[in-house]
Amino acid sequence: MNWQQACELPYYDANDLGAVWSPAQTVFKLWAPTASAVTLQLYATGTDAEPGAAHLGSHALQAAGQGVWAATVPGDLNGVYYVYQLQFPGGRTAEAVDPYARAAGANGQRGMVIDLAAAAPDGWQDDRRPDIPAHARCVWEVHVADFSADAHSGVPEAWRGTYLGFVPDDTTLDGDGRHPTCVNYLKQLGVTHVQLQPIFDYATVDETAPGGYNWGYDPLNYNVPEGSYATNAFDGAVRVRECRAMVAALHRAGLGVIMDVVYNHTYYTDSWLERTVPGYWNRQWPDGRTTNGSGCGNDLASERPMVRKYLVDSVLYWAREYHVDGFRFDLMALEDVETMNAIRAALDALPGGENILMYGEPWTGGATYMEGGARPCDKRAIPELSDRIGFFCDDTRDAIKGNVFDAGNAGYVNGAPQSGYEILHAVGAWRSGAHGIAVKRAMQVVQYVSAHDNFTLWDKLVAVGRRGDYNAADAELLAQNRMAAGIFLTCQGLPFLQAGEEFGRTKYGDPNTYRGPRALNTLDWTRAHRPEFAALTAFYRGLLAIRRAYPRLTGAYGDPEPFLLALPGWLIGFVPETEGNDPAGQLAVFYNPEPTRQWAPLPNGTWRRLCDGTHAGTTPFGPLCRDALELPPRSVTILLAE
Ligand code: CA
Repeated sequence: MNWQQACELPYYDANDLGAVWSPAQTVFKLWAPTASAVTLQLYATGTDAEPGAAHLGSHALQAAGQGVWAATVPGDLNGVYYVYQLQFPGGRTAEAVDPYARAAGANGQRGMVIDLAAAAPDGWQDDRRPDIPAHARCVWEVHVADFSADAHSGVPEAWRGTYLGFVPDDTTLDGDGRHPTCVNYLKQLGVTHVQLQPIFDYATVDETAPGGYNWGYDPLNYNVPEGSYATNAFDGAVRVRECRAMVAALHRAGLGVIMDVVYNHTYYTDSWLERTVPGYWNRQWPDGRTTNGSGCGNDLASERPMVRKYLVDSVLYWAREYHVDGFRFDLMALEDVETMNAIRAALDALPGGENILMYGEPWTGGATYMEGGARPCDKRAIPELSDRIGFFCDDTRDAIKGNVFDAGNAGYVNGAPQSGYEILHAVGAWRSGAHGIAVKRAMQVVQYVSAHDNFTLWDKLVAVGRRGDYNAADAELLAQNRMAAGIFLTCQGLPFLQAGEEFGRTKYGDPNTYRGPRALNTLDWTRAHRPEFAALTAFYRGLLAIRRAYPRLTGAYGDPEPFLLALPGWLIGFVPETEGNDPAGQLAVFYNPEPTRQWAPLPNGTWRRLCDGTHAGTTPFGPLCRDALELPPRSVTILLAE
């Protein structure tokens, strides 16, 4: 189906697609304008392999205008499973799960009608998004299973690696009462948002057999929570209730929840979406071949009107029904600008919706073909994107510790001080316009050095440093790690880190663990409490506290770029701009990438340290200094003027 044919299909503008439950009846609506007939099949279970499996009847849907087929089935259908059977002119037939299904059975093979109000944990109606000021924000990225699967996590065994692993807030290492783990640990770290790797229903883990593992970038049912993280994958209400319980638990801890969304492709090219309207949902080259900008076999055609609507509806659904605090868009450059701006506008219209975060990866995994003049959300699109849609800054990431695709390539903190040229721009969140990045607001720039893809920060430092032992608390690598953190946590923008970066997380040099094994991915809470790594965590905690105490450092409120000091070599120093001339309360920040001590001249005033490269916190310490300062090797120093 080409662009013109796609645009000629009727657009459906109402918000009642899916199975809308009420005690007396359920209304089923499916957009399938090219179908010649649609039949609803009802079942007692999510698969025929389960006890109690039974076919509960068939209902023909009627054409209801604007390409929609509809049926009203009387009775209380809460918990009834369903699929659609479609016929097309020429005799082609298909069976599909409702793309708007809100619940599903095991492995997502049938949708389930659900009473959403009933599928909620106690107190859900009182759950609220925490109010987190923009300058305090810091995102910590984790996978649901990785968070608590460790046998030492202190989480009850039945809940380890599940949504419910987030619910206890008093867990300690092996229950020792002294070393906090999981949410108990997060409450003290100082990060504000937990970004979860995909929690929508994905395809590659068998939900009927425990022990599977995948990161989940293989979407199956976009509006259904993944079943393998639930304590029961067969009852479609359980995953809904437990996913909400996870969100509520994080909210109780004062943390926001960011959902990693993968609207760029579906796991099966022959997806439920494609089956309902063949040729409409997947992008095609002019010769009819399916595009593969995702590197996963297909791309959703976000620029087509009903695809755009689907993405907007899906994001709104998670925001409304799961109280999600933000969305991270996988391969965002496969989405078009108009769609992303439409999602932003739709979120903004929700109560408090302007505080819901949006950011994504401004790149693709290959070439795609957007039609109708649509523009991809890569870095070149920033001038046209809402200034509250952010993007991961690979320039900052690679400048700090080396390129992610070249294991031995060094960055500013580990042997390539000339990368300081890029760091100079990173400090002000790239608003200088360098590298053609035309940022409107500092907080659009996600400042980071590690995420789930590629090496952990620790493994990257091990690779560049040519060390063989991932478990040794190597003093030089710890200094490099502290310096990397000291940089991205003193740059303006939105800071982000991979879970465990703050305690030297290792995957033993494996840069891509998306299929497991689980043991390589799981957060090692014992490592987190080894004294050398716990000291590293304390350093991150101190830097985050400084950020919260000095909003000017973050650029969150339209602050100008910091004033750069003239320093020798590749030393970098800067002071955040202030109002007035009183130096008291002013900060000065210095980066020394050299393996030796260096001297830096100081701005006027009398200064004390908040950070000396090893310790960080909001209480000034050490001797008064003025005129000049000795900077330790490979260090970030933060000074406060008295
Ligand atoms: Ca699944």
